Amino acid sequence: MSPTATSTTAKKWTCNQCGVSISRMNGEKVELPDTWDANPEGTYCLICRRDRAAQAALDSAPDDCTIDTRAKLRRAALIEFEVSRRPDHGDGIIAKACRSSVSAVAAARRRLDLPAPTHQR
Ligand SMILES: [Zn+2]
Repeated sequence: MSPTATSTTAKKWTCNQCGVSISRMNGEKVELPDTWDANPEGTYCLICRRDRAAQAALDSAPDDCTIDTRAKLRRAALIEFEVSRRPDHGDGIIAKACRSSVSAVAAARRRLDLPAPTHQR
């Protein structure tokens, strides 16, 4: 997640996880989409970034936790991912994107110590 990696251009971006790629028809260089992330581990599209955030939360969970707990961890990780990706978006918008509740988004924001958005909806 180094800041130098974000302003890169390439002929083609391919997600290391799902293999989806972005390129221009005319072969011109394209910028890495905002929603993608290129870091030393690889290049990932938004869907895979979400997936990896959720997976990281599950990896750190104890092996003996229940399916229910794992589902909760996964949901919390997705919300935290979205809140830290777009801290300026309203809790309602993020809740909708994560199919979660506004209070869950607000709680994630507090956990991450992120300020409330300026345009609250
Ligand atoms: Zn992907």
